[in-house]
Amino acid sequence: MNVALWLERTALAAPRAPALMSGTALAADYEGFARRAAGLAGWLSSRGIAPGDRVAIVMRNCPEYLVVLHAIWIAGAVAVPINAKLHPDEAGWIVGDAGARMIFVTPGIEAASAAPAVVALGPGFADACAGPASAAARKDPADLAWLFYTSGTTGRPKGVEITHGMLAAMSLSYLSSVDEVRPSDAALYAAPMSHGAGLYAPVHVLRGAAHLCPASGGFDPAEVLDLAAAHGSVSAFLAPTMVHRLTRAAEEGGRDGAGIRTIVYGGGPMHRATIEAALDRFGPRFVQIYGQGECPMCITSLTRAEVADRSHPDWPSRIASVGRAQSLVEVAILDDDDAPVPPGEVGEIAVRGAPVMPGYWNAAEASAGTLRNGWLHTGDRGTLDAGGYVTLMDRSKDVVISGGTNIYPREVEEVLLAHPAVDEVAVIGRPSAEWGEDVVAYVVAADGAAPDPAALDAHCTARIARFKRPKAYRFVAELPKNAYGKVSKVTLRQWDREASPPASGTA
Ligand code: AMP
Repeated sequence: MNVALWLERTALAAPRAPALMSGTALAADYEGFARRAAGLAGWLSSRGIAPGDRVAIVMRNCPEYLVVLHAIWIAGAVAVPINAKLHPDEAGWIVGDAGARMIFVTPGIEAASAAPAVVALGPGFADACAGPASAAARKDPADLAWLFYTSGTTGRPKGVEITHGMLAAMSLSYLSSVDEVRPSDAALYAAPMSHGAGLYAPVHVLRGAAHLCPASGGFDPAEVLDLAAAHGSVSAFLAPTMVHRLTRAAEEGGRDGAGIRTIVYGGGPMHRATIEAALDRFGPRFVQIYGQGECPMCITSLTRAEVADRSHPDWPSRIASVGRAQSLVEVAILDDDDAPVPPGEVGEIAVRGAPVMPGYWNAAEASAGTLRNGWLHTGDRGTLDAGGYVTLMDRSKDVVISGGTNIYPREVEEVLLAHPAVDEVAVIGRPSAEWGEDVVAYVVAADGAAPDPAALDAHCTARIARFKRPKAYRFVAELPKNAYGKVSKVTLRQWDREASPPASGTA
């Protein structure tokens, strides 16, 4: 089934329901949304785009994004959403790898040179959407819908093949394991639509909810709070660092998050102090998901009740976990021979089920390395407890080995974040002749003034073993984050090697 049929059906069932919104302004109801997408699909076909062809999207978040995405699917083609913040050369590399025949770009974004045909969104876009409508091409569950280039921190990104069947499975997994969606709800696209936020579009089309694009085209915490208050019943997918910024903005503005229905967080580790502050401020509005491009958004979830119930005796371990398997997958922790390890033991997290990718585009060797013995090997390490909760460990390359002992940065970060003078922190290892590696903490101070390292040291020694405490602190204005809001430890290690950027203070 072509996943774009959901748009056709919702438009028939609820033609006047608000569909696309730019800020608080209505851009299209469902009939208008479906009509534009079908018209643009006809235009694509008239320009020679055939089923199976790849069409890239290098656009900032906007209502037209969803029109383009659905038009590509209706035409039977494959969407290649590319983060608009990538360097033109990076975007160009992806366009070339995918063999895209056309690119849609937001005006002002430098079009990648590899593009055979560049369509800049402008006044002509409405005309292209107004032409003869196309009916949705027939698609099987195994047919490609989306090439999802992973935000790998090393090497070239790989294109995960996301099929129509996977998008359908993901959507059902959302409804059964993450949250319900009602026509009165709205999806708010604060994180890039080329990533997780956009992957949640189909389920909101299926249920006839509205799609709200902030006018800024990006993540501005105050704007998110305003839009939620204006629309009501808004859901958004945010990286943990964005949850942190949203909470800070609400605290500073005396806001309680009125109009926010659900914040789904994931994509990187959520620290306990961050989620506690968010719960204090907003109440039970959070659901955690764990996924990766290879099994998008669909590996585990920690439900709203599990996140919120701080009186539960198991809350500390649950909140440190990523929850339990979502309804359409099996999750296991495997040893090096792909045999399951006993509960509580560390191994590689593996997953199988309908939302798992068939492979990487043009990369048979990488696909065979990742998909083995019937399992997707996530590359993440973790444990599974007797209750089915999965807890991620720091990635092996992030573990600090000092004096021969493994130190998990997350544990040290959790402790430092509990100090009132610390706003954000990331811990890395610095090569040391004496110890192999030293623990170094990069700290963003809560009030802009660097806290006293001796106070932080005392705070750590009161809570964790002495050998785990940072040997050095560097105070910075902000941590390096990638386009999806994840802290980049690779960049941090580079800063540390080069003693850059100019820190606001060192110790
Ligand atoms: P990506 O494919 O770019 O979405 O990155 C996926 C990776 O992000 C996963 O393999 C995990 O290492 C990490 N990740 C995703 N969700 C979570 C989560 N809830 N908690 C911690 N790490 C996560």
